[in-house]
Amino acid sequence: MSELRRDPVMGRWVIIAPERAQRPDAILTARHERQAGPCVFCDGQEARDPNEIASVRIPGTAANMPGWRVRVLPNKFPVLRIEGKLVREGVGIFDMMSGVGAHEVIVETPDHELELADLPEAHIADVISIYRDRMADLGGDDRFKYVLIFKNQGYEAGATLDHAHSQLIATPVTPKRVKEELVGAQRYHEFKRRCVFCDIIRQETRLTTERLVLENDGFVVISPFAARVPYEMWVVPKQHNCDFVAISEPERLNLARILKQTLLKLRTALNDPPFNYLIHTAPFRRPRAGYWASIQHDYHWHLELIPRLTRPAGFEEGSGFFINPVTPEDAATTLLNAPALPKPPDQGSISATDSTMRVG
Ligand SMILES: [Zn+2]
Ligand SMILES: [Zn+2]
Ligand SMILES: [Zn+2]
Repeated sequence: MSELRRDPVMGRWVIIAPERAQRPDAILTARHERQAGPCVFCDGQEARDPNEIASVRIPGTAANMPGWRVRVLPNKFPVLRIEGKLVREGVGIFDMMSGVGAHEVIVETPDHELELADLPEAHIADVISIYRDRMADLGGDDRFKYVLIFKNQGYEAGATLDHAHSQLIATPVTPKRVKEELVGAQRYHEFKRRCVFCDIIRQETRLTTERLVLENDGFVVISPFAARVPYEMWVVPKQHNCDFVAISEPERLNLARILKQTLLKLRTALNDPPFNYLIHTAPFRRPRAGYWASIQHDYHWHLELIPRLTRPAGFEEGSGFFINPVTPEDAATTLLNAPALPKPPDQGSISATDSTMRVG
């Protein structure tokens, strides 16, 4: 039986249609051939890159030289550019704004053969530190309202280079999707005086566990009630906090651990599918009377993981409805039971963790 489900944050209706039920292997897209290294993001190829913005590297090694573990570069083909003043203008009925922003690439490892899921937890925790530090740094530029951190893994998910990387784009406006979430969370809070995400965590860990995929001291991973796509997952901190930049030290390590397990489960359950993830956090809160005054109470940062197993078509485009052929409960069961297996050691070496690395 199909059913309509309403997302409690967005108010968006989704059609869960399991009778369209293709099995997981039937909804997988054709595989794109992985390009061999070395590429511009590989160890030793630094001379081919623009100057690095930040890195986590072995003490004593110079910027733009080997010795790094995580590295941030300006995007060579930026969607928005960092230079220039933010100019707003009206052209007839249309409003315009200059394309000011920042577009950066976070190279997650010097090793071409490894995916984020293959890296040691401490290394993934370094990637998370870099996310946090870049977001905090760009928040100091008052032309920007928001920084969206996202990852495209796999050709079908939009990745143009196979070397493991994430990206960030800083924008002079709060993105529409984020604003819709903020408004949805604010309405829920006005009505119930509680955070909708905290309520979701309570519901999915105490009232039922049928959509719970993973849990540790700091985080839960759930298959959301009104998932848009098969095997969508939300990684949500248990501690209420609207701002990813304020992530605590234990949370950073717990996020690295749970993210690794989640990605490994996704890989085993669904034959290494293409996916996107993104971090949703509060916009930069600059002094502005009354605007988003309640955000620290009603919003709750999280990471959304979207496997790319189905393609949206005309109905989705025309209606804004998503049709999801896998029930979120079945997806949670499949993921819960999938082992979080590491890659066999012959497929790429994992370098030992060096705790003396520093963020520069
Ligand atoms: Zn490479
Ligand atoms: Zn909350
Ligand atoms: Zn979100």
